[in-house]
Amino acid sequence: MSAMTSMTTIVYRARKIITMNPMQPEATHVAVRDGRVLAVGPVERMQAWGDFELDGRFVDKVLMPGLVEGHCHLKEGAMFAQPYLGWFDRHDPVGQLWPGLRSMDAVVQRLIDLDAELAAQRTDPAKPLIAWGFDPIYFGGERMTVQHLDKASTTRPIVIAHANGHLMNVNSAMLRAAGIGAETEVEGVVKFASGEPTGELQEPAAMFLVVKKIGNAGLLAPLDPAGMHAFASMARRQGVTTATDLVNKLTEKDVEVLESVCNGDDFCVRILPAFQAFHGTHGAAQGAEHVRALMARNSDRLRYGLVKMMLDGSIQGFSARLRWPGHFNGAPNGIWVTAPAQYEDDFEVYHRAGLTIHTHTNGDEASEAAIDAIERVLSRSPRRDHRHTLQHAQMVDAPMFRRMAALGLSVNLFANHLWYWGDQHHDMTMGPDRAHRLDACSSALAAGVPLAIHSDAPVTPLGPLFTAWCAVNRVTPSGRVLGETERLTVPQALHAITLGPAWTLKLDHEIGSIECGKRADFCVLEDDPLGVDPMALKDVRVWGTVLSGRVFPVVSA
Ligand SMILES: [Zn+2]
Repeated sequence: MSAMTSMTTIVYRARKIITMNPMQPEATHVAVRDGRVLAVGPVERMQAWGDFELDGRFVDKVLMPGLVEGHCHLKEGAMFAQPYLGWFDRHDPVGQLWPGLRSMDAVVQRLIDLDAELAAQRTDPAKPLIAWGFDPIYFGGERMTVQHLDKASTTRPIVIAHANGHLMNVNSAMLRAAGIGAETEVEGVVKFASGEPTGELQEPAAMFLVVKKIGNAGLLAPLDPAGMHAFASMARRQGVTTATDLVNKLTEKDVEVLESVCNGDDFCVRILPAFQAFHGTHGAAQGAEHVRALMARNSDRLRYGLVKMMLDGSIQGFSARLRWPGHFNGAPNGIWVTAPAQYEDDFEVYHRAGLTIHTHTNGDEASEAAIDAIERVLSRSPRRDHRHTLQHAQMVDAPMFRRMAALGLSVNLFANHLWYWGDQHHDMTMGPDRAHRLDACSSALAAGVPLAIHSDAPVTPLGPLFTAWCAVNRVTPSGRVLGETERLTVPQALHAITLGPAWTLKLDHEIGSIECGKRADFCVLEDDPLGVDPMALKDVRVWGTVLSGRVFPVVSA
């Protein structure tokens, strides 16, 4: 990949170019100079710009703007260094398939095998076995406890991270090592009727008891260059050229790794890390100053400036905060990860510092608390074009979207849930009425709320075309269609994976469409997403990407 020399113009001819620019929705040629789009249209139009090189490598491909993932996490790249225990089959960064485990027994058997492998390798018996991607909700509501995990080992500590990232299960050896017992009084430590802990730990305060014990092992390891390159390889396979790392402590070490990797010439994704907000008046002010100082170091491929805040937990983990009538199966209401009053105070500090804040809200009580808080902050401290965004916001209904529009809020809906947990939301968490308006994409657009859709990888796999397929079809694994009237058209869904997220990231002037002046970011496809059956949108094949004019074909394993 050689860097483009200035003033060299390359004109790519394609089978079709989907520009996402309504003035010129389709074209056959695009001229690229200095990493930017110089011109789009018939080749004759490009001659006025002087000499150019005609490049035919995309002559049988379809180009669209590089896809934008507005809510994912760089650790998607490093996850497969640990064993995967999910229900769905899943591909790793080199395209290898990890088969899903379809029963609790299969999960336990896999752990027995893994423990035996570690023993055969003569690994330190105290070294924890860490795995990820588990979700008990697929097994009919039975919760995992120490009794399951102790079948794999009663001596080696075992830590199972749930797919949602908000919960974990540990065995009795890990409970002992972490000093968690009947006497432990920390919210989120689930207990049997006897008062003994079940081994399930919900949300950060409870999980921290284990995390501080196993240190930076496994899933909780800080960013490293290998994981970032694995992420980039996944992004390239999925046509993604801009992605967020939607919660990052941005420590000195994190910043060093981000800058050395992203600014390297071979890196094929633009990364926007969102700072994990510090709490408290002093902490928030310090955090805001930290982000503002980092922004001075922004480059094309690394953009600081976003702040991430969290209100509640996960719907499928029953740790989200729901309004009346609560959980369909009678489970108690979830957990405030940040108390709403604290959220409002912290939010105001970052808002006044001019930063854009992305707030995790899953249940509708949390979304409403965010909207209430932001409304008060904006009345005290009005600011135009803030682009504050609610992330997930899965239970937001039409009246809440109308309030969001009035406040200038954007939304990034977790459309992949329609497939991955649609049936469970219908049957267990929220019931049919609210499941039909899950991730209500059309209601958001009807209310005038700028819309993006996302994967939250590694919670679900990175892949915006799959995410678009979810929003267009709204089908579940059992064959239900959840809320037909909330379905997007294919062009609306393509907008929600290009210009939509570009807007929420305040980058719509640079990316999201193929037009003169924008970055030459392309997603290169073998098939035409506007030409295939909408049910085949997820099967559209990606050839590779172009990032600021540099071409990155998918490298096969
Ligand atoms: Zn996330």
